[in-house]
Amino acid sequence: MVNKGVKKVLDSYTIKGTNKTIKVGDAVLMRAQDPEKPPYVARVEQIEADTKNNAKVRVRWYYRPEESMGGRRQFHGFKELFLSDHYDVQSADTIEGKCIVHTFKNYTKLESVASEDYFCRFEYKAATGGFTPDRVAVYCKCEMPYNPDDLMVQCEECKDWFHPSCIGLPVDQVKKMESYYCPDCSPQAQDKSKPTGHKVSSSKPKLPQKVSPPQELKVDPKRRKK
Ligand SMILES: [Zn+2]
Ligand SMILES: [Zn+2]
Repeated sequence: MVNKGVKKVLDSYTIKGTNKTIKVGDAVLMRAQDPEKPPYVARVEQIEADTKNNAKVRVRWYYRPEESMGGRRQFHGFKELFLSDHYDVQSADTIEGKCIVHTFKNYTKLESVASEDYFCRFEYKAATGGFTPDRVAVYCKCEMPYNPDDLMVQCEECKDWFHPSCIGLPVDQVKKMESYYCPDCSPQAQDKSKPTGHKVSSSKPKLPQKVSPPQELKVDPKRRKK
């Protein structure tokens, strides 16, 4: 006699209609009920078969910024996800593909971002809307966390990073600049690139260095602890 409640834990599962195999720890795309919506992203925590041999996956959901309580904010990247504390058991049939959720640092180092590339720098508590870490380094005059999708230019002097719009420069001009000095470091040089100085790569900003002294910002100021 087989106990009906007993489930068999599986090492892997092959996505239906593909030769792709998923394992525990993999990130997967799961079909949304609404076909208009993008697939859900989840991390596989366990793969099991029920007594009828239907494969099920225990998953930990990634949330997109628009699915979080605070909504999408300016500094959220297009491919940004939050690792939530929301777990679920789903039929493995809803898995439609694999994807890669990079660390923030690795994501910024990608030569090109493919459709299956995502990144995660925050964990998210679904019940409270809280983030971990709840403080991140901020950059520019607007004091925003870094959005890897936005072009930024680095000041040669203070090494802070700036959005062209925040320093009143057109993107085209920033892209052509050999070097940049922010208004605080060189007020007279703010509308002209200096002939000296090192070449500034303004096309794809690298992950900014730590700002010294570190500037910090609550990710969601509404949730600040009193
Ligand atoms: Zn800015
Ligand atoms: Zn500066």
